[in-house]
Amino acid sequence: MADYKLFEIANPDRLVIDVSDAAIARGFVAPAATGVLKGVRTGRHGKDGARIVLDLSAAARPKTSVQAYGKSGAYRLIVDLYTKERASAVKSMAALAAKPRDVVVAIDAGHGGVDPGATGAGGTHEKDITLAVARDLAKLIDKQSGMHAVLTRDSDTFIPLQERYQKAREAKADLFVSIHADAYASGDARGSSVWVLSPRGATNEAARWLADRENRADLVGGVKLEDKDNTLAAVLLDLSQGATAEASDAVAKRVLQALAKIGPTHRGFVEKANFVVLRSPDVPSILVETAFISNPSEEKRLKNPAQRQKLATAILDGVRGYFEATPPPGSLFAANARRDKLRNVARRDKAQSDSDAADLADDTVASRSPKS
Ligand SMILES: [Zn+2]
Repeated sequence: MADYKLFEIANPDRLVIDVSDAAIARGFVAPAATGVLKGVRTGRHGKDGARIVLDLSAAARPKTSVQAYGKSGAYRLIVDLYTKERASAVKSMAALAAKPRDVVVAIDAGHGGVDPGATGAGGTHEKDITLAVARDLAKLIDKQSGMHAVLTRDSDTFIPLQERYQKAREAKADLFVSIHADAYASGDARGSSVWVLSPRGATNEAARWLADRENRADLVGGVKLEDKDNTLAAVLLDLSQGATAEASDAVAKRVLQALAKIGPTHRGFVEKANFVVLRSPDVPSILVETAFISNPSEEKRLKNPAQRQKLATAILDGVRGYFEATPPPGSLFAANARRDKLRNVARRDKAQSDSDAADLADDTVASRSPKS
């Protein structure tokens, strides 16, 4: 095989191939310009070498391979040219295939700053409980592989409701979880509840009361009352996002089930209300009322860090279960689901071949048994 040397020259961009002990064949016709290749020139190099110059329209990275050519012991030198753009596109595609993205969970600690939320008999403010649970949950989520948490607030500050779900949308969140603690006029109401946006506004008196109480935060922050006149239109718009509503429902059910394992639930089903924070048209959203802060024994539970950790863990379990069941495209959950599917197919194939082998063994025994 002939020795060859290949090097690049810039200004203008050229690729030079020097082949020793070689000559350009008579009747050689240079290939037409194509892609980054503008033309081919040939000449002599040194005493008995040949030079091939590829004129290029842009800098290109050559990739060479040598293959046997025919049966006469000849070789073919193949030069692939990659322009920078193409090379980086290939690289980023490879990176994309190699590293699935994290699902992003936006965690919203309800209330904050001038808006304390509900206050328990013992003086506990809802805004402090929600922040503590939100932080616990964010830490747990960040520890999971394939999951990443974003907090709408990480301090005692007031954030208007619209801004909360806007933040989730800006973070390209796969899920929005708003954390609250419930309150009711009578001190014996108890239990966790999980809410999704209602299709027809508040469905019952209690839900409407709750929705009003949550929405009032807008007034505290000085957001115009007129904004509320658009509520109906906004809700109708949100409803058109059927997939989002369906997904919200699925997450809410799982989170409620997980919460039911660690304590009482207020009702045994996912509730619906017209919460402003749940209005993202494209981000599945749930609101978790961790417990009733107006119930003295539940207020005590909310003040206990170990109990809060349990609440956060239950919410995580529900959320993770949802992503495992419905993995977002491109996520690690999707990659894992694909892997598990392949494994199951392989396992099924193996089980089948094992059972075929067993059948074969049975046949052998059966064919022998008449003799005994
Ligand atoms: Zn609240």
